[in-house]
Amino acid sequence: MSRAALLVSLLLLAAPGRPGAGSDQDQDHDQEHGSKDPPHSQEKGPGHSHWSYEDREHWYVDYPDCAGTMQSPINIDITKTIFSPQLRPIQLSGYSLPANQKLKLRNNGHTVLLELPDSLAITGGYAQQYRAVQLHLHWGSLSGHGSEHTVNGHRFAAEIHVVHYNTRYDSFKEAMVHPDGLAVLGAFLEVGPRENPYYQEILGHLYKIQEEGEEVLVPGFNIAGLLPANLKLYFHYNGSLTTPPCYQTVKWTVFNQTMLLSHDQMSILVKTLRNDDGKPLQKNYRLVQDLHGRRVLASFQTTLVSARQLPSEGPSSSSFHAGDVLAVLFGVLFAITAMAFLLYIYKHRSQNTRLESPTKSKVIYTAASTENTV
Ligand SMILES: [Zn+2]
Repeated sequence: MSRAALLVSLLLLAAPGRPGAGSDQDQDHDQEHGSKDPPHSQEKGPGHSHWSYEDREHWYVDYPDCAGTMQSPINIDITKTIFSPQLRPIQLSGYSLPANQKLKLRNNGHTVLLELPDSLAITGGYAQQYRAVQLHLHWGSLSGHGSEHTVNGHRFAAEIHVVHYNTRYDSFKEAMVHPDGLAVLGAFLEVGPRENPYYQEILGHLYKIQEEGEEVLVPGFNIAGLLPANLKLYFHYNGSLTTPPCYQTVKWTVFNQTMLLSHDQMSILVKTLRNDDGKPLQKNYRLVQDLHGRRVLASFQTTLVSARQLPSEGPSSSSFHAGDVLAVLFGVLFAITAMAFLLYIYKHRSQNTRLESPTKSKVIYTAASTENTV
């Protein structure tokens, strides 16, 4: 399906007069990455969507974008990242919420999702401003890690995604079909020695939403505490939603610093929720996708030896090209000099050969040997 066709179907979904469905309920429907399902998937009622992680190799049948060439997640190969000094620290505003502001926490059958008010925003680090919509987590099982992105092939225990949409669009739904529509902040979770009080604001309520579709209101807290303290060090690339409909409209930020949860917190995350089959909701991550030539930028020098500096635009770009031209020029000059030198040596040696020839004859013409044979 073309993007235009998808847009049309989304507009149809958003059209007024749809029976029984206020726009609120629409937004409440599966929002893993805020994604919406096409109409036919809503037969099982609100909150349900028919795709599953077991079926992830076939997502593209109903959602063609899932077979695209800019899909997420990806493996971040540190040695191939490109240092870009233009990547400024990520700045968050409005992330600290008062406890009297209640937030909806929901088990949507694919993840635990916390709805966020649009007063939260990314105000720095991106070329444009983005408003928050929701955050959710990806995890593994008691025996295996479950982050979506990997770094040098390493999978972390879990991963948080905070989903935002570009303020140039009126809504998340409108933004999600545009190439510059979405920004997702991702961070890795690992097991550490202490309980994490910010994650406890979510994990402490999971037992109330064990079944798919259940939701609970939780007090507001400092949402920024769920993300690393260091917002300067990150990777950046263009990708997609990691769940259907896999729209390729996400500008990804994956932080370098990881978040620590206690062992008990991690097992609560992994063990508590169930999916629509009543089975444990586990391993809700998509496998890494091919880069198809995409470049992953780093806001910092990953290694002094391997990190290549991104040729930037503007004056420094032209100086980069001038350097190239000079290098080629010197190369050619060197080659000419070397050729001339070799030619000189060759000529010189040819002359020597001609001069030496009589000498050699002289050796053969040794009177003594003749004398000896006599
Ligand atoms: Zn996600």
